Amino acid sequence: MLTNLQTRDVETLVHPYTNLDTFRSTGPLVLESGKGVWVYDSDGKAYIEGMAGLWCTALGYDNEEIVETARIQMSKMPYTHLFGAKSNDPAIELAEKLKEMAPMPVSKVFFGLSGSDANDTQVKLVWYYNNALGRPKKKKIIARLKGYHGVTVASASLTGLPNNHIDFDLPIANILHTSCPHHYRFGLEGESEEDFATRLANELEELILREGPDTVAAYIAEPVGGAGGVIVPPATYYEKIQAVLKRHDVLFIADEVICGFGRLGTPFGSTAMGMTPDTMSLAKAITSAYFPLSAVLIPEAIHQAMIDESRKIGVFGHGYTYSGHPVGAAIGVKTLEIYERDDVFGHAARMSPRFWKHLDALRDHPLVGEVRGKGLVAGLELVADKATKRAFEPRRGVGAKAMALAQEEGLILRAMGDTLALCPPLIIKEAEIDDLFDRFGRALNRAEELVRKDGLR
Ligand code: PMP
Repeated sequence: MLTNLQTRDVETLVHPYTNLDTFRSTGPLVLESGKGVWVYDSDGKAYIEGMAGLWCTALGYDNEEIVETARIQMSKMPYTHLFGAKSNDPAIELAEKLKEMAPMPVSKVFFGLSGSDANDTQVKLVWYYNNALGRPKKKKIIARLKGYHGVTVASASLTGLPNNHIDFDLPIANILHTSCPHHYRFGLEGESEEDFATRLANELEELILREGPDTVAAYIAEPVGGAGGVIVPPATYYEKIQAVLKRHDVLFIADEVICGFGRLGTPFGSTAMGMTPDTMSLAKAITSAYFPLSAVLIPEAIHQAMIDESRKIGVFGHGYTYSGHPVGAAIGVKTLEIYERDDVFGHAARMSPRFWKHLDALRDHPLVGEVRGKGLVAGLELVADKATKRAFEPRRGVGAKAMALAQEEGLILRAMGDTLALCPPLIIKEAEIDDLFDRFGRALNRAEELVRKDGLR
């Protein structure tokens, strides 16, 4: 029986990443308030937000300093823009701060509102850059299967997941996909992780040579893949991939939308994974998700080409009404200040062993085929047969059922197929991690009972 609020929702809203058919009878979970790592539904039931929303509320749900920062900025200057050479203090300060924090040289910062628009900006800048350099053929961008980069037309094209392409007439031209660096699923029988990494780097090089290096402009990757199932590339993978990119003058774009700002135990995921990208997309935890904000970190070479184009064609024709929104930027500045002052990334790194102690214990669970992740993000892949890695039939919806059971136990997590993701706010404490895994363990045991009862293995 749906409540009144649920009925009103079903009658009015389209829900992203939701089965729009079954949803009509299940209705939504309506969340009303939050405190720390906890959120509360409209009946007052408490849940640990084990996903930090969508991998984003790093500081949890009741940061009063951010609220106050927003209030002050809203009353002083609620809106200005960056078009036509206008600016505002907070946007300048945030850009300065990001340049200072970035693990590679950055010339300029371009602001947007979402991970998707940041990656669309990356695509457009890569094209613009190569046109400016007089290399109009060098336009192809290589992304990875199971990579996630967003849902706008260009970023959904980069995303390597079928549901983002089927029926949407995507991907667009000039976007290619290479293999997913997930050894458990795609490593060959007896192939070591190192050999797997070598094979994937060779495959990338063959793709570039087949297409013609003069047509391949960039490669984009999440340091650790998130929405495609929490995929951690094997050691030596990036080292080998980067050597290929260098050989063929291909730009390396790091999509740090999830990994940026402490998630893997370092300020940026690229550092944790041994990547030295040319440019980065940032979003989510840049404001702890208290305001929509994204940033693209632009290297000097690209910026110089942009200036050269302006000399020829006039204004730079890209930007959003809300690029550099002063409220978002002020919140971004405050969020980064809190990260630094309270050593939030250090705290997250210190919490990680406790998180992994629980995760390691779950490796023996009969439902769990693989546990993967790094820092404070993890994915657990549920399988029908541990020994053979046989997956459940997708139509059984085992992952979705486990997620629903966790929700009954007062834990919010995310099912991506049969992989369950955990990505709690970075401020989570040890006792809360223990509590999270008590709930998670109960949900997994109930899922296991269900699997047995339904004869799914
Ligand atoms: N890149 C990555 C790595 C992401 O995880 C996401 C969102 N989950 C995006 C881009 C898209 O961000 P948004 O939903 O803000 O458009």
